[in-house]
This record gives sequence, C-alpha cells and structure tokens, in this order.
Amino acid sequence: MENKLKIGIDLDDVVFEFVNPLLEGYKEKYGKDISFEEVFSYNFPTIFNISLKEVIDLIEDVFKKEKVENMSFCEFSKESILDLSKNHKIYFITSRIFREGTLESLEKFFFETNFELVFSSNPYAKTNGKTKGEICNELGIDFMIEDSKEHAEECVGKNIKVFLLDKPWNKNTESHENMIRVKNWREIMEKIR
Ligand SMILES: [Mg+2]
Repeated sequence: MENKLKIGIDLDDVVFEFVNPLLEGYKEKYGKDISFEEVFSYNFPTIFNISLKEVIDLIEDVFKKEKVENMSFCEFSKESILDLSKNHKIYFITSRIFREGTLESLEKFFFETNFELVFSSNPYAKTNGKTKGEICNELGIDFMIEDSKEHAEECVGKNIKVFLLDKPWNKNTESHENMIRVKNWREIMEKIR
C-alpha cells in the first residue's frame, strides 16, 4: 500500500488552458498576434504593452461564467488527476482573481474525487490572502504542481517541493533541489510512481 500523499495542484495552465484563451482575447480586442512562445513572463502588462487594469479586463473575459464551465484541459491533466486521486488527496490551490464558477467546474469534471479547493493571494494583481507556500505548509502538502515561476519560487522558499511544468514563462526560474522541472503530466506521473 503506497503512502497517501497530499498533492497541491494549480489550476490555470496546469489543469486548464489559460494563456491560449487570453491570447485569443487579446487578439480579438487589440488586433495583435502574440504567440504562446512569446509569453516569456506572467507580467502581462509588459507582454501586451497595456495597463494592469486592461489586462484584468481581458482576464475577466476568460473567466466569464459560461466560459469557466467549458475551459479546455491541458494535455493529460484530467486523466492524470483522476488517476492520482485514487490513492492521494488532491488540493486545487489557485490564485484566480475571478472565482465564480471555479468550484462548480471542478465538481463537474472531478465529481468522483474528494478534492478541496483553496484560493491564495495573487502576486500579479496584488490581491490579499495567504500565499501558496503558506497554504501548502498549513495543509501539510507533500508537493505542489505549478507553472508560475513566482508561485513556484515562493513555495520552494517555504520548503515545499514543486513540480514545475515547463512553459515559456518559467524558463528563468531559479534552480533548487526542491524544484523539479517536468515537460508534461506524463513525466509527473512517472516521477510519482
Ligand atoms: Mg498557473
């Protein structure tokens, strides 16, 4: 019998695609094409050359109620999480600033899973609340699955082990013995086994 682990999982660009619909929204509104590979940071005001307020308006559009319930899954995310949830406890830990519909969408897709959903502060929009590292420590999370450089570095700084999914915006993340860079969910599953 393997040990039951507490696994923290970020939502956007880990479970659900976020940057792709954001780039589509940006193109629609501003008429400019920016490719996925060009998103070298989650600092979207710099990437898009617009204000934070305008970025937040674009993000709000991605998380409209009818869209949140139909977001696309990242490759292998859904089946991997369902598989992990058979033996481990899943905690979705997200810094989403538009939260409406989040729990409902997770309940729809992971209804057979006994997961928990926790919201953290958001370092980009500078919202209040506990950081992901603080939440992970309080819950006794064994490791966190992340794509954000800022969240990953903060977790590692609080002694939380992180699987960092390789993305254009986290290439320059500091290396650390507790930071395990992986190409995709398949690699995470191999490493957990
Ligand atoms: Mg994310």
